[in-house]
Amino acid sequence: MTSAPSNGPSDSDSSGTAPCTFPGNLSTLAVHAGEDRQKPTHSLTDPIVCASTYSFANTQAVIDYIRNKERRGEYGRYGSPNEWAVEKKLAALEGGEEAIVYASGMAAIVGLLMAKLSAGDEVVFFDECYHRSREFCTKHLSRYGVVTHQVRACDYDAMERAIGPKTKLLVSESPTNPHLSVVDLERFAGLGRKHGVDTLIDATLATPYNLRPLAFGVDYVLHSATKYLGGHNDLLAGAIIGSAAKLQEVRKLRGILGGINSAHNLYLLERGLKTFELRMERHNRNGQAVAEFLANHPRVEKVLYPGLPTHPGHELAKRQMRGFGGLITFMVKDADWRATADVVDRARIARIAPSLGGVESLIEQPLVMSYFEVPVEDRKRFGIPDNMIRLACGIEDTQDLIDDLAQALQG
Ligand SMILES: *Cc1c(COP(=O)(O)O)cnc(C)c1O
Repeated sequence: MTSAPSNGPSDSDSSGTAPCTFPGNLSTLAVHAGEDRQKPTHSLTDPIVCASTYSFANTQAVIDYIRNKERRGEYGRYGSPNEWAVEKKLAALEGGEEAIVYASGMAAIVGLLMAKLSAGDEVVFFDECYHRSREFCTKHLSRYGVVTHQVRACDYDAMERAIGPKTKLLVSESPTNPHLSVVDLERFAGLGRKHGVDTLIDATLATPYNLRPLAFGVDYVLHSATKYLGGHNDLLAGAIIGSAAKLQEVRKLRGILGGINSAHNLYLLERGLKTFELRMERHNRNGQAVAEFLANHPRVEKVLYPGLPTHPGHELAKRQMRGFGGLITFMVKDADWRATADVVDRARIARIAPSLGGVESLIEQPLVMSYFEVPVEDRKRFGIPDNMIRLACGIEDTQDLIDDLAQALQG
């Protein structure tokens, strides 16, 4: 769509490739972008199209489809109406030309890395990136001759030193999880441009509400849509957003790898996205208020949250982000692992679970949830102390969350 919304017949062709130019700001895009104005059966909402395959009227229609590269359904692995709607919506929210959705965030990053890296190529990570992404490279892409370098998060000089003639991709998350380090996207993208290397930001924690990496010149944005984009702790999905040219081969490979979503899952994601801006406003508000409460609590040793002036990345975060999200990491003062676990167990609102970004607040002790069988020296190296708690604020009432943490910390 190129003009203001109208109730006339849609000129949209339901393809997955045309950039969405629907006019409006974030919440308008979240509600309307990517959708045909007038839908089949006149349904206001997108019908869930449960088709594994798409039929052709006759042989000539098949030939036209192939010759003219017509945009229409062929076979489910190559795209589907529910997928096109979600992809256009995500591209619009991120301000990118094109989005590709996958069955999970990991399927998305694997899909991108497989498409972009060949034997002999090198990739450089900031070491606070999602550990499964790094593990895919070090344990698996290494079997195909791809070399992975990991440098300390936010050490731009170390990243530049790690770049060689075979380097194809620089990867970071921002903010990182669970340390909430904030990466300077201008510097990060600048490194890529200077050396002719593509850059990828996993912006799952930030979301397009808080951060727009493409505007800083980053080439690819990755999301685990399982988190804030879906937003209801009821689905897994992933997405990559970038230029159509750079994503062409990525999309083709996805058609071979096959990590696609069911129509039902895509509908859930589309529905979740409708309230994206509303939810993010509350996640941000809860994150900021709870972080401030914790920072002033006598039983709390330290709080990691980019919205706090004490956070080393605060000034940078203020410059490049609109808000700071719902994820907070904090350390309980003078607590061993058991006393820390007691705080977690006393929480009555937040549920004990991994993940983040859904309407329900989730709480966990990284030592137990993610590093239980990791040797103590390695935990030290990764910066995971026994008294660390990760709290993913949902959209519950702000004061209720604070009151509940107050009682949990009081013991
Ligand atoms: C959860 C997560 C992923 C992986 O996404 P899945 O949807 O679980 O596959 C990747 N990066 C970050 C930052 C995440 O939080």
